[in-house]
Amino acid sequence: MRKVVIAGNWKMNKVFEESKQFAEEAAGKLSQSDKVDAVICAPFPYLSALVEQAKGTALKIAAQNMHFEDSGAYTGEVSPVMLKDIGVSHVVIGHSERREYFAETNETVNKKAIAAHQHGLVPIICVGETLEQREANETVAHVKEQVTKGLADLTEEQIAVTIIAYEPIWAIGTGKTASSEEANEVCHAIRQVVKELTNEATAEKVVIQYGGSVKPANIDELLAQSDIDGALVGGASLEADSFLQLVEAGTK
Ligand code: PGA
Repeated sequence: MRKVVIAGNWKMNKVFEESKQFAEEAAGKLSQSDKVDAVICAPFPYLSALVEQAKGTALKIAAQNMHFEDSGAYTGEVSPVMLKDIGVSHVVIGHSERREYFAETNETVNKKAIAAHQHGLVPIICVGETLEQREANETVAHVKEQVTKGLADLTEEQIAVTIIAYEPIWAIGTGKTASSEEANEVCHAIRQVVKELTNEATAEKVVIQYGGSVKPANIDELLAQSDIDGALVGGASLEADSFLQLVEAGTK
């Protein structure tokens, strides 16, 4: 059985005090579970403090991005070594906002995925199509290419512990969710790609999340699907209450 992973992506939101309050409330109410992992993807300045706050609790802390090099002359960047050093467990890679606004490509996503595994960080690799691509029936081909290029040169063992987040771009922050069947269809296609790249046993281990306007009202339906193992959540992860409801849904 795959574990459900609910990851709250705060994006560029909250000030320090708000992040502390959230973690206090959420960490206090979460209990260790073998069914669900609760992860918060926070802005860089708060990661260290959040990791400290989350120690001994069921809350895990993730970064929203990183560079692929260990160190060097890359002003403004943060390396996987630094993230590991402060106790971060996961890192979001290739979010559509980074692909769109910060020139992230399948090649940099792949370099980052390799670097994350080298340092024992779990990469959450984001893929997804634009509305134009969906309307032109290119969704599966596009997502397949993103997954294949993103996972290139990873070992089977590394792929087995990689999280893939399927996020149709048109559903992010718009209130429009793909129907749970539509979402599952693409998540299933992703699992097929992983199977082609590796084998069935590995494909069965990979956690595939859906993301795009996930909220407490639609999480149950999404998690009931055969190939959706969790969610990457923006807006509905900003309040501890609704984040906790999403995590709770993963325990059912
Ligand atoms: P949303 O964002 O839940 O606000 O649609 C999802 C994401 O971008 O990860």
